[in-house]
Amino acid sequence: DIELAGVCKSFDGVTNVVDGVNLRIADGAYCCFIGPSGCGKTTILRMIAGHEDPTAGEIVIGGQNVVGLAPVQRRTAMMFQSYALFPHLTVRDNIAFALRVRGMSKAERLRATDAMIEKVRLTSFADRLPAQLSGGQQQRVALARAAITEPRVLLLDEPLSALDEQLRVQMRQELRRMQRELGITFIHVTHTQLEAIALADLVVVMDQGQIKQAGAARDVYAHPHDRYVAEFMGGQN
Ligand code: ATP
Repeated sequence: DIELAGVCKSFDGVTNVVDGVNLRIADGAYCCFIGPSGCGKTTILRMIAGHEDPTAGEIVIGGQNVVGLAPVQRRTAMMFQSYALFPHLTVRDNIAFALRVRGMSKAERLRATDAMIEKVRLTSFADRLPAQLSGGQQQRVALARAAITEPRVLLLDEPLSALDEQLRVQMRQELRRMQRELGITFIHVTHTQLEAIALADLVVVMDQGQIKQAGAARDVYAHPHDRYVAEFMGGQN
């Protein structure tokens, strides 16, 4: 499991961007953080990933406090927006790139890469450049590039925000399918209620650095703890 215990984060001049967060995320869960702009979602994601450390509190992954450890040591990976793909590298080379630092032979790297390409259903596109792919296909390359490092947790920051509505719905299904197939924990930040409801086992509603409510999507939607959650989720008290 992933456990956040008393997690706080302040930056120079900005205090309590994350303000005492306690949360347990079960292994293999699809978790969505949702809340208005500036409520601290991305900061929590970056602290779990290991790109930022908390000012106070513990982040425990698989029984180990990972505060201070680098992302590779934590075995976390962040899926970046598709525009972060290398434009001059093929789909295969973009995905294989993430393995370059792992003392693997070239043959092993190729085998692992082709298996991942098949998982994201891009086999016939493996030799193309990113610019020769659709938005949804580019997104799948970005997902594969994060997943190939075999993380315990995959972190996704607004992964669908650059896509049009129709593609967003398609990609939601793709993300859910990939999450089941990989069998790893996904933590996904969004400000779209529908996205959280469609995807998450665990929905975490945030406001001003604090968790307002965390639970199964249908519970948060049907039984909001307070008016803020009710209004935010579009449900009724
Ligand atoms: P959005 O949905 O707009 O991305 P968010 O909920 O992800 O918002 P964060 O990006 O976590 O919010 O930011 C929370 C607050 O922390 C904001 O007020 C932001 O300005 C501040 N903040 C984030 N990173 C830094 C930093 N490196 N230095 C100073 N302040 C920061």
